[in-house]
Formats: sequence, structure tokens, C-alpha cells
Amino acid sequence: MAEIRVEQLHKSFGDFAAVKDSNFVVESGDFFVLLGPSGCGKTTTLRMIAGLELPTSGRILLGGNDVTFKRAAERDIAFVFQLFALYPHMNVRKNIAFSLKCQGMPQKEINRRVEEAARILRIEHILDKSVTGLSGGDRQRVALGRAIVREPMCFLMDEPLGALDSEFRHLMCSELRGLHDRLKATTVYVTHDQLEAMSMADKIAIMNRGEVEQFGPPQEIYARPASMFVADFIGSPPMNFLHFHAGIPRGSGEALLGDAVVEMPVLQEDVAPRDLALGVRPEHIAFDDNSPLRGAVYGSEYLGTTQIVTVNTQFGQIKARTKSTGEVRPGENVGLRFASSRLSLFDKQSGRAVRSALFDGAAHG
Ligand code: ATP
Repeated sequence: MAEIRVEQLHKSFGDFAAVKDSNFVVESGDFFVLLGPSGCGKTTTLRMIAGLELPTSGRILLGGNDVTFKRAAERDIAFVFQLFALYPHMNVRKNIAFSLKCQGMPQKEINRRVEEAARILRIEHILDKSVTGLSGGDRQRVALGRAIVREPMCFLMDEPLGALDSEFRHLMCSELRGLHDRLKATTVYVTHDQLEAMSMADKIAIMNRGEVEQFGPPQEIYARPASMFVADFIGSPPMNFLHFHAGIPRGSGEALLGDAVVEMPVLQEDVAPRDLALGVRPEHIAFDDNSPLRGAVYGSEYLGTTQIVTVNTQFGQIKARTKSTGEVRPGENVGLRFASSRLSLFDKQSGRAVRSALFDGAAHG
């Protein structure tokens, strides 16, 4: 196990900056996820940590040692990729043992490690089977076995579940997290799937256009998004934005939307008059006939115990998650009440969150 430290990591391909001065620390034993849309620089970051790509500038420290210019083979890490190529002419045992055999490890130690990996992955019963004809899940477990037996300082995984169907992905997510809890090995996991990230990660770095927009535990990222990009990328449906123009003094906990005064966490900085967006998660909205903030119901989606109700307001369309027992009709005029301590405020031009009591954790419960 080892800490991974990334300092001012930058990678340009010609004029194009794929990764822009990234900084983050993956603590020893953490399951860390690099999350973001396609092309945001996740794989390039992972490849630099692995030693498969040289940074343009910056440093990578593995277990306190500067490995920035060390070759991949010198870094004591193991990979699991989406397209796991197993050797078709070898059985499961030989596939898992292959890299150890190449290192010239004594057979007794190889046997011990292979059996230990098979026990952890619960694939003892297929050790002597051919890999051709294995299910997708078992093939993935064998690929993980090949990584585990090396007992590396850390694991790097690039969309390892990307090729699996959604039901199976879900199952493998909890299996991977369970595996991590047993091994406690530092893991860097790349995905564009927020649900995978939220369900598995100890910490997430959300990337956008080569930059880390926010770094932190999933709960913090969900509750206190640092930017409109993060607020929109995380959550299903994502955070709603109500657009308005105002100036708000430091120490105020109120936003004026038309005639409606909306309470929100107290601001820690002055906001000069500008375009703003009030952010509210769907589950923090309730219908209240007495609220002056109103809109017209556009439609609803039934989801079993809850429903998603879409409401058109003069500040933008919003989606509320309410109990499915509450009936709403399209066209109905409804009042909206927000859980004030959970609201976020964003500067629309920069897209960044305005610092508030919510951001300092004071109003977050
Ligand atoms: P995806 O999930 O689609 O793989 P990603 O977030 O992992 O996306 P990267 O693969 O890191 O993104 O790529 C980031 C950007 O860098 C992309 O625009 C990509 O086209 C570009 N890029 C990556 N490798 C190279 C290369 N060798 N030469 C030129 N451009 C590259």
C-alpha cells in the first residue's frame, strides 16, 4: 500500500492541454475515482501515474518516492483495463500465475498467491478450467486475479466494467468495493459513470476539460458542489438551477427571486450585482400552497415510491423528487418550498459556487 501524490501535473499533446496542472493526494488504502465526461483527461492522468505517458511538467510521488521519470515496470503497480485480454490457450490458474512465472518466482510462492487470490475472488472452483467459455464476470475476476497476485503497491483501473451490461456492472461494483475492503490496496479507478463513482469511492476527483473541478468524498461533492459543472454532472436528475440577477451582501442568507424571498445559507462574501444561479437538488423541493415561488406542472414520472415532477417557473425548469402518493396534474399551478440549508449559489459567468455557510459545513446536516 502507498500514498499517491500528484503535483502540478500537466500534459500537452502539441498545442492541446489534455491535463492542466492537476493536484491531488490519494491516501494509502483509499479507493480513489477519477470521474468526468469523455475526453476530460482521466485516462491521460492514469497513464502518467502508471508510467505509460510522460508528463509535460509536474511530479508524481508513489509512497513518498518521486517516480515521475521511472518506467512503468519500476513502479510496483498493477493494471486492470476494460478490455482484459486473457491467454486463451491457458487455464485460469496459469493465466493468473503468468506474470509471477515470468518474474521467476518459486513455484511454491506462486501457488500460495494464486490460491489466495482465487479465495478472495471466490473463483477457486474454476481454477483448472479453460478461460474460453467463461462468463464475462468470471473473465473479469480472472483479470483481477492477475493484478492481485502481484501484490502491488497500488491498483490502477481504467473503466474495468465498461464492457459489461448494466445489471452486471452493478453487481461487479459492489464486488470490487468488497474486494478493496479486503485488500485495502490504494486504488485509482477511472470512470465516466457517476453512479459507479458514488457507490465505490472514498474520494472522487471530478475532471472537466483537463482540470480537476472538485476533489473530495462523494457525500461532500453531492452536498456542496464547487461548480455548476459538478452540480450538473452528479445526481440523477441533476441539481436544478434557478437563474436570476441580483447583488447580495456578505452575511445575508436571502435571495430575491422576483417577489419571492428564498432563504439560503449565509454568504461569506459580497456578491456584486450579476447573473446568479440558485442550485437545489430535486429531493430538497416540496410543494407548498403558501409559497410565493410558483410554477406550472409540466409532467411527472412515476418511480415507485417517489416521482419526479417537472415544473416550469419563470426562473427555469426544475425537477422535484416527491412522494409518489402526492397527486399533481399537468398545468396545475404549484408553490415551491426549498430546504434552505441545502441550497447552493453559483456565479453564472465563472460557474463557481459562491462561498457560503453551506460551503463551510456550518449549515450542512
Ligand atoms: P475517455 O473516457 O473518452 O477515454 P478521458 O477522460 O479518459 O476520455 P483522455 O483519453 O485522457 O480522456 O484524453 C484527453 C484528451 O487528450 C482527449 O481530447 C484526447 O483526444 C487527447 N489525447 C489523448 N491522448 C492523445 C495523444 N496521444 N495525442 C493527442 N491527443 C491525445
